[in-house]
Amino acid sequence: MSAPAPGTDPRRSLPRVDDVADALAPGAAYLGRPEVVAAARTALEALRGEVTGDADGGLPAGDDLHARALALARAALPARAASLRLVLNATGVVVHTNLGRAPLSAVAVEALRVAAGTCDVELDLGTARRGRRGAGALAALSARLPGAPAALVVNNGAAALLLAVTALAAGRTALLSRGEMVEIGDGFRLPTLLISTGARLREVGTTNRTTVRDYLEAMDDDVACILKIHPSNFRVVGFRGEATAADLARADLGVPLVVDTGSGLLRDDPALPDEPSVAAALEAGADLVTSSTDKLLGGPQGGLLVGRPDLVEACRRHPLARALRADKLALAALEATLRGPAPPVQCALQADAETLRHRCSVLAVALREAGVAADVVASDGVVGGGGAPGVALPGWAVALDPALAAPLRTRDPAVLGRVSDGRLLLDLRCVAPADDDLVARAVTACATPRDTPAENAVLHP
Ligand SMILES: *Cc1c(COP(=O)(O)O)cnc(C)c1O
Repeated sequence: MSAPAPGTDPRRSLPRVDDVADALAPGAAYLGRPEVVAAARTALEALRGEVTGDADGGLPAGDDLHARALALARAALPARAASLRLVLNATGVVVHTNLGRAPLSAVAVEALRVAAGTCDVELDLGTARRGRRGAGALAALSARLPGAPAALVVNNGAAALLLAVTALAAGRTALLSRGEMVEIGDGFRLPTLLISTGARLREVGTTNRTTVRDYLEAMDDDVACILKIHPSNFRVVGFRGEATAADLARADLGVPLVVDTGSGLLRDDPALPDEPSVAAALEAGADLVTSSTDKLLGGPQGGLLVGRPDLVEACRRHPLARALRADKLALAALEATLRGPAPPVQCALQADAETLRHRCSVLAVALREAGVAADVVASDGVVGGGGAPGVALPGWAVALDPALAAPLRTRDPAVLGRVSDGRLLLDLRCVAPADDDLVARAVTACATPRDTPAENAVLHP
């Protein structure tokens, strides 16, 4: 093809949108036609601007225009069909709410892959009859919680609490200690959620001290349940006291005791002495226990209701249960998390400080060899996810120039560290050891100036 004759409108020699889209399509099989056409259109608009601005300088030949359009269109294509980007969590925050809380274990990811297709989520293949939804996840849960009489899985922890209170106390009264009227984060206040069920909340006790007597005095015929909510994200120290689940169970107030443990920790963990576990709440005598499955349990987003069979059944049969049900992907990933090896959240919580120090020093040596200033410094991790406030997880981090924070954060995959005291800290606690190399390459790529020494020599002779 040749350049247009003088006097021709240069825009008329631009390639057609469909031609650019056709040329783009083979490399963009992960996108539908409208996305590819949109990228072609964006590219041609930019090119039209270039050509118009360039009208009195020589016009590129048709082939060049086509190549230029294609290059612009490729740059305009999204990198993948979904915009969520992998972030390597080097913050040292184990359950990072803004990073999607628990990263799934490899077996849970594999379970997701299978469940993504058509699967027997509600079909018994042996009898060809309808099967109970989530039966596998429930069986895995009861294997991990041998004392749990019955269970139900819903969409998230808030849904579990919502369903429990709706099924047990809508139109009646629920007792809750004033010290447990908490905000979980981002404006999510549990009392507001509880009131939305149509239950009346009756405050018991004070902010710092609540006794069994307070509950006893608040009891009347309208009370349908007693709620205990774990104030996950803060601690009250000093002159304080609470009626524990065990105290309330012993007092036998004649209505169900519902305990929201929050984190989904299944059994007590000596490293997290203030985190109530589902098993401990049941042992203490709770009639119904609710929790998340994606905080310390380390699974997908989900909510658990565990406890007395009649109460679990009342929740399961409530019409709201259908609106809150867990999807097949979550059920599959939850079952695999429960049956599989320790999920990443557990590994990160239990990471050995000496091992972390060794990984950091290997990373720092590699970076220094690449000409990047890097030191190994002591740095505590935290549990996060609004849980275990005040618990420090002793560990180490690689300290870098804070100017690297933005380029590391905006690349793909992103690397998110923590800026503290004028340094960027990369804590490897929540990075899979297999990804250490990825972190090293990301830092080197961000730290190495693009200008080669030769170019610098030209710029600064
Ligand atoms: C996190 C939390 C919830 C909400 O659980 P989600 O899974 O986020 O819906 C409810 N109660 C407590 C005590 C929590 O810590």
